Amino acid sequence: MRRRSLCALAAAGIALAGCAFFEPFEAARPIGPCGFDAASLQFDGDALAQARCLLRPVAAGGVLSPAPAVLPDSLAALIGQPVGDLKPQLRRYLAARHIADAAIGGSLDAPLSRARDDDPASPAARYLVLHDTSTPWLGDATTFPPDDDPALNALARFDGPDAVAHVFVNRRGETLLGHDFGIPWRATQLETRRVGVAARGLFLHVELAQPRRRDPAGSARNDRIAPLPGFTDAQYARAALLYAAASARRGDWLIPAFHAALDEGIAGAHDDPQHFEIARFAAALERLRDTLAR
Ligand SMILES: [Zn+2]
Repeated sequence: MRRRSLCALAAAGIALAGCAFFEPFEAARPIGPCGFDAASLQFDGDALAQARCLLRPVAAGGVLSPAPAVLPDSLAALIGQPVGDLKPQLRRYLAARHIADAAIGGSLDAPLSRARDDDPASPAARYLVLHDTSTPWLGDATTFPPDDDPALNALARFDGPDAVAHVFVNRRGETLLGHDFGIPWRATQLETRRVGVAARGLFLHVELAQPRRRDPAGSARNDRIAPLPGFTDAQYARAALLYAAASARRGDWLIPAFHAALDEGIAGAHDDPQHFEIARFAAALERLRDTLAR
C-alpha cells in the first residue's frame, strides 16, 4: 500500500505532487495487461476471464505471473453469476452472530456505489479489490511478530475521513469501516492516474493487514519482505464475508481482483497483496456458504 498519504489525498481529489501527477487518460485504448476499457468500464473478457487475469499471483516487487490464475472450481462457478437468495441468508447469519453492518461494509439493504462518481446511469461496483496494508513496516527486523501481536492488529491508524479503503481487516479478522461500500472511493493508480473520475465507484477496496520488512538487498526504505503465509484464517473468513455481503448488495457475485493486477504497467504501481492464497479464500467462502445454506 505504499505512498499511503499521497494516494489518500489523490483519492479525495486533492492535488499534490506525487499522486497528482496524472498521466494522460487514454480512453480509447485498453489499459494494462487485463485490458481495462474506460468506455465500458470493464476489463477484457467475460467475468471469469477478467477474474483469471486480475487474480494472477503477485510476486515480490509486484511482479505478476503472466499466466491466468487457476481458480478453484467453487469460486469460478460464482463469479459474475446471480447470488440467488444470498441476501436473506446473510441477514439471518449476521443477526445470529450479532455482526454489525459496519463490519461488512454497510447495510445489505443499501445500494453499492456506482461508477462515474455515483452516476445513476452507470454500473454498480463490479470489482472487489484485495490489498495488503504493508503496515506496520518493521524495517530491519529479522522476524515477524506473532499474528496476535497488538501492533499487527491496531486498526485505528487507518481511520479518518480520507481512509484509503472501504474496509480494513486485521490479523484477527476484526474490521474497521473506512467508507461504506455505497461511497465511491478510489485507491489504485489505475483509478486515480489512468481512468480518472469514471472509475470512482466501480471498485470496492478491502485492505488486509500485513506487516512488511526491509529486504537487506534492496533500498533503504523498501518493504519487499512479507510474512509467509501472508494472511490468517480469520482474514480469509472475513474477506469471504465481505465478498458475499458486497455481492448480495449488487445481486451478482463481484469480480475479485488484486491491487497489483490493476496497477500492472502503470507508474507507481503497488505490489499488494503479497502471498494471498486464492485456494484459502475460496475454501473460506465455501465454508461460509455451507453455513448460510443450513
Ligand atoms: Zn493496495
